[in-house]
Amino acid sequence: MGFSYKNHILYAESVAITDLIDAYESPLYVYSRTDIENNWYEFDQAFGTHPHLVCYAVKANSNLAVLNVLSKIGSGFDIVSIGELERVLFAGADASRCVFSGVAKTKFEIKRALEVGIFCFNVESMAEMNRIEQVAKDMGTQAQISLRINPNVDAKTHPYISTGLKENKFGVDIDDVVPIYRMAHNSPYLAVKGLNCHIGSQLVEVSPFLDALDKVLELVAKLDKINIRITHLDLGGGIGIKYNNEQIIDINAYIASILDKVKMNDLKIILEPGRAVVGNAGVFVTKVEFLKQNSDKSFAIIDGAMNDLLRPAFYQTYHQVLPVNENAKGVDANWDLVGPICETGDFLAKNRKLSLSEGDYLALMSTGAYGFTMSSNYNSRPRVAEVMVSGNQHTLVRERETIQDLFNKEHIIND
Ligand SMILES: *Cc1c(COP(=O)(O)O)cnc(C)c1O
Repeated sequence: MGFSYKNHILYAESVAITDLIDAYESPLYVYSRTDIENNWYEFDQAFGTHPHLVCYAVKANSNLAVLNVLSKIGSGFDIVSIGELERVLFAGADASRCVFSGVAKTKFEIKRALEVGIFCFNVESMAEMNRIEQVAKDMGTQAQISLRINPNVDAKTHPYISTGLKENKFGVDIDDVVPIYRMAHNSPYLAVKGLNCHIGSQLVEVSPFLDALDKVLELVAKLDKINIRITHLDLGGGIGIKYNNEQIIDINAYIASILDKVKMNDLKIILEPGRAVVGNAGVFVTKVEFLKQNSDKSFAIIDGAMNDLLRPAFYQTYHQVLPVNENAKGVDANWDLVGPICETGDFLAKNRKLSLSEGDYLALMSTGAYGFTMSSNYNSRPRVAEVMVSGNQHTLVRERETIQDLFNKEHIIND
C-alpha cells in the first residue's frame, strides 16, 4: 500500500509526508506511482489472454505525470474532450488506444480525433453520429464508432453519478440501437465496431454491471442477425473503491464474470476505470489553521477547502482523515474540518474523533480521483501543488499556482 505509518509518521511509499510538506508546503495532493501502476495492472492481468484494453478514464485525474506513468505500462485512455485528448498525446499516449466518450463532441474535437487516429468514438446520440459522419466525409476518412446504450439499470449509487437510467442524459435507448446501426452500417464514412455502456460511478455491487452486460449481449446477437458484426464491447468504468468500510467489488471476480458471459465469442473487452486506478493512490494534505469550539460544535479550520476537494460538499462523500503525525496530542473532540471559503457547504469532513492542535497536518485519504481535477479557483484561491512519489523519490508534478496565475488572463477596460 502506498500510504502507511512508519514510526507514527504517515508515509507515501518511502517518503515521510512531513518531508513533502517541508519541500512543497500545504495544501498538497500526493500520489503513489506504485499504487497507480498496481491498480491498473490488477485490471489488465485479470483478463489473462482474452483480447482487452484497459482505458484509464482521464477525468478522474488528468495530471500529465499520471497519464505518462500509465501510458508507459500500456494503458489506453478514455477521454471526454479535446483537452483530455491533447493531454494524453502530450503525455506520450498512443492515439490508437484512446476511446472518446462524452455527450457533446464538437466538430473541432471530432476532426482532431480523426486526424490523430483514435481507436473509437463512443457515440451518445443519432445527432452526434450524423455529425461524426459529416466530419469524416469532409476529411475523406472513416470513423470507428461504438454506440453507448442506456441499459436502464439502476447502479444504486449517488444520483449525481448514476448514468444508466432512462432519466439520465447518457446513451441511446436499447430499442433505438438497431435502426441507428442499420444507418451507420450503410455509410462509407462510419465503421460500426462496438457497443458500450457506463452506468454510473462508485458502484459497490457487480450485479448492475452484469445486468447491463446481458442487455448488451442481446443486442450483439440481434445485430449479428442483420449482419452487423460487433467486435468489441466497452463496459465503461464505475468500479467503486473503499472510502470508509464499504464492501467493494472484487475486480478479479468481476472480470471473471464478464469473461464467463462473453467466452462464446472473441469480443474484445474494454473497461474504462478511473476512480479504481487513482482513487486510493492519492491523499490530500492540509494544515489545521485554527480550532474553534462552541457549546455544540468543534470546528477545525484548515487551509484546504471545497475548491481544492469538492467531493464532500458536492456529493456528501466521506474521506478518512489521518493525522500526519499519529502521536500528536491536542484537544480531543469530534471535529468538523471546514475550509476558509465563504460557504456553509465548505467542509471536507464532519464529526471526526481526532486529537488536534493548531499547526497539525492531516491527510484526507483516497482523494486521488476527482480531487484535483474538480478543483477550482473559487474565492480566488490558487490551485494547490501535486507531487508524485515513487519509492524514496518525489517529484513536483504540478506547481502550486501563483497569485499572478489567478488573473493573468483577465483584462481591465481602459477608459
Ligand atoms: C466517468 C466515466 C468513467 C470513469 O468512471 P469511474 O467511476 O471513475 O471509474 C468511465 N467512462 C465514462 C464514459 C465516464 O463518464
